[in-house]
Amino acid sequence: MKVGENVVEHRVQNFIMQCRELGIKVTPQRIAIYRELSSTGEHPSAELIYKKIKKYYPNISLTTIYRTLETFEKLGIISVANILHDAARYDANLNPHHHLVCVVCKKVADFYDDSLSNLTVPEKSLDNYKVLGYTVQLNGICKECQRKKS
Ligand SMILES: [Zn+2]
Ligand SMILES: [Zn+2]
Repeated sequence: MKVGENVVEHRVQNFIMQCRELGIKVTPQRIAIYRELSSTGEHPSAELIYKKIKKYYPNISLTTIYRTLETFEKLGIISVANILHDAARYDANLNPHHHLVCVVCKKVADFYDDSLSNLTVPEKSLDNYKVLGYTVQLNGICKECQRKKS
């Protein structure tokens, strides 16, 4: 799922402004990493981003990618999801949304649903736990994997 060019540009401009406000340096590499992540709806892992960035920044290391993504996450610029106990998967979409996860190919797709976004949190069973947000994750088998099986 590719993200539209306009959306990506908008996200990147926002990102640059956010970095300036937070006082973190806006380097070409950081922009490249963010752009890569924000231009896909596929929730890539650090390794996948690394493979793509390496094409135009051959000297970049996987450690740099990890550290940069970690910094972005701490600053709330991106979010991270640990899905099916696999490697961390990164997400530039910060709008409240939910995930469809294919248990076969581990693809992660976003989906939106108003009723799922407005669930009442059951306070009684949470033992004073302060809930900041939630994402509903539906595990299943994607269309392509279903087709391959039959
Ligand atoms: Zn699949
Ligand atoms: Zn997502």
